[in-house]
Amino acid sequence: MVSFSRKRIALISVHGDPAIEIGKEEAGGQNVYVHHVGEALSQQGWQVDMFTRRANPEQPAIVQHTPHCRTIRLTAGPQEFIPRDELFEFLPEFIEGFLAFQEQLETPYLLIHSNYWLSSWVGMQLCKKLSLPQVHTYHSLGAVKYKATPTVPLIAKTRLDIEKTCLETVTRVVATSPQERDHMRSLVSTRGNIDIIPCGTRINHFGTVTQEEARHTLGITPEEKVILYVGRFDPRKGIETLVRAVHQCRTRETEKVRLIIGGGSRPGHSDGKERERIESIVAELGIGNITQFPGRLSQDDLPVYYAAADVCVVPSHYEPFGLVTIEAMACGTPVVGSDVGGLQFTVVPEKTGLLAPPKDEAAFAAAIDRILLNPEWRSQLGQAARKRVETKFSWDGVATQLGELYETLIEESSQAAAQEVSEALTQVSA
Ligand code: UDP
Repeated sequence: MVSFSRKRIALISVHGDPAIEIGKEEAGGQNVYVHHVGEALSQQGWQVDMFTRRANPEQPAIVQHTPHCRTIRLTAGPQEFIPRDELFEFLPEFIEGFLAFQEQLETPYLLIHSNYWLSSWVGMQLCKKLSLPQVHTYHSLGAVKYKATPTVPLIAKTRLDIEKTCLETVTRVVATSPQERDHMRSLVSTRGNIDIIPCGTRINHFGTVTQEEARHTLGITPEEKVILYVGRFDPRKGIETLVRAVHQCRTRETEKVRLIIGGGSRPGHSDGKERERIESIVAELGIGNITQFPGRLSQDDLPVYYAAADVCVVPSHYEPFGLVTIEAMACGTPVVGSDVGGLQFTVVPEKTGLLAPPKDEAAFAAAIDRILLNPEWRSQLGQAARKRVETKFSWDGVATQLGELYETLIEESSQAAAQEVSEALTQVSA
């Protein structure tokens, strides 16, 4: 009998725990990406271990997602929430934890896929020590982020240096959009190997509810015009542009408009402060009566919110990919997004939604009006949006592309190792 042994790979996501609740300050697209990539890869025959940092002593050390995919939480620094910009000093302990964990396994890892710059450093140390191929996904590039931020953190130089070394030296970098690849080339380095493999979404989870059913569930009447934001409370997400645009939009003159701003926050933390800031702008503009803050929306609630909306707005100043965009599109809801980064890849202007210059509230107001005031066009955009996600952005499709890349790199790495052995033997016998 042929025994089938699964190839074992490690996904590393030091600060983005794939098993945690999504929608709070530090839990967003990266957590969703690692979680679903891991699960989809395990369904395609891989043995997947996802390593993250333990941020609370009550969290279980291991969470089993599928029979062949699990999250493993390693101790690195105090078992409490630590902002990502303060995690670097704890990474050597993370590496020790990884190596100790690997020792107990029957088969070793054949490849490491790291996520975000902190994990890229961990991956580079481990791959050097263990002679493994490394794949890296940035999720956010310091070189782009810092251009859009007024204050740069102390860790900035370390991050920029590591992001450059990573691009130039790891086996393969995965950009999630052509725009992200262009940023890497123009702002980080012209050296290094980049493949483009997008992010994905669950096309059977998002897109199963009609607008009518969704509105019934949420108590929203069919006549209302619903504008939705979903995401973290972070100034780079541009929620301020959205509320100012809604204040300006013409639709309000003739229609009943409802603005829903969904996302979790914790009082006293940076997301809590941003929510308070947005609430005070809403009050100042006098649109409190049409604005709703439902808090964190669970992944089970989200299909209903997306489907109930007439338009989903993604007003980010910078967005490497933007999962919310494809989730809304999968639900048949057109997106008005900023004309930046991954949104230029996911949204096809005039076909699945519209793009507006970031921070330009008048342009956002005009784009929102165009969609809200043309219900027929709105449904055409929504149908095309759903189709685009089905053909381009399913997790299964993403995992297949990643799996093919891993196979190639593992094969190349074993051939290189065999070559080294044969050269060494030739030298000995000579
Ligand atoms: N999200 C959620 N609940 C919320 C807000 C956000 O589950 O209340 C999820 C959202 O569905 C998406 C992710 O968080 O999957 C955000 O990813 P995106 O790439 O849009 O933004 P990021 O957080 O990476 O900046």
